[in-house]
Amino acid sequence: MKLSVVIPIYNEEENIRPLYEELSEVLQSLDHTSEIVFVDDGSSDRSLELLTTIQQQDERVVVVSFRRNFGQTAAMAAGFDYATGDVIVTMDGDMQNDPHDIPALLAKMEEGYDLVSGWRFNRQDAFINRKLPSMIANKLISTVTGVHLHDYGCTLKMFHREITKGIRLYGEMHRFIPAIASGMGSRIAEVKVNHRPRRFGTSKYGISRTLRVILDLMTVKFLLSYATRPIQVFGMLGIISGSLGFFIALVMTIQRQFFGIPLGNRPLLLLAVLLIFMGMQFVSMGLLGELQARTYFETQNKPIYTVRRVLGGQDKEKTE
Ligand code: UDP
Ligand code: MG
Repeated sequence: MKLSVVIPIYNEEENIRPLYEELSEVLQSLDHTSEIVFVDDGSSDRSLELLTTIQQQDERVVVVSFRRNFGQTAAMAAGFDYATGDVIVTMDGDMQNDPHDIPALLAKMEEGYDLVSGWRFNRQDAFINRKLPSMIANKLISTVTGVHLHDYGCTLKMFHREITKGIRLYGEMHRFIPAIASGMGSRIAEVKVNHRPRRFGTSKYGISRTLRVILDLMTVKFLLSYATRPIQVFGMLGIISGSLGFFIALVMTIQRQFFGIPLGNRPLLLLAVLLIFMGMQFVSMGLLGELQARTYFETQNKPIYTVRRVLGGQDKEKTE
């Protein structure tokens, strides 16, 4: 079995050397072969230069260098594309994650899990703009996706490479890998990991990340639950809204026709019209969504299911 450690790097010049040394020491102590995939996300400091030097000295190191800054999610996706290991470990390039946790994650994987996620139970970050939003986000993501983890934000994770094949990451979605993987039927576990304060360099994110995470959560939830049946979300909303509008309009028509109550001075009329229109729009959106879903799945030959394995049939055992 081969282990690939994927590390996104954006302006981390002071961290690269010490991180590399600490990590390779840990990797040496394992009885698996390994590689380190550094993805330089368009750094403007000396990061790339340092990575190049390391790569020349150590052939287990792969460096992927972006033309410009594409963001942490893109960097991780590139890491998955260039990794050759059977098992992937992701971690931050700022030394906040501790490479010494890797053996514990491996041990958990060997119990038969497909993905093991780190939980920074002693997280060393500021409370107001880091830990508090993260607490709320974790609760929210857990409730919405039904995959209960204490720490979605922890980059230190380990999983089989197969998992990355079925996942396309956009926006800030690297943190949703466990939720998406679980949607594909993977077995998920959580392990407490060490977390250290940032010693060098600065954090690349501000508080606005929280909002972006919430928007991505909406996307992930939609894709996980309704990507194959959009009409059932939009159509449902459309039916509710449309029938409510129709009912109000009907009552008002009866009142006008049989009881002589004038329509002109009743704001309720506006609501009825609005609801009917919204209903029609929701239903059409659902139908368009159905078309899109077919394009999405069929152009990519993407099945709407995931198979763990097939027994029998064409004389060989296929795995996912
Ligand atoms: N990072 C990246 N591209 C970016 C922003 C961040 O590759 O556009 C990397 C960064 O170098 C670090 C990791 O993502 O290795 C996490 O970033 P950071 O430590 O700033 O996030 P925080 O720990 O504050 O959540
Ligand atoms: Mg950090």
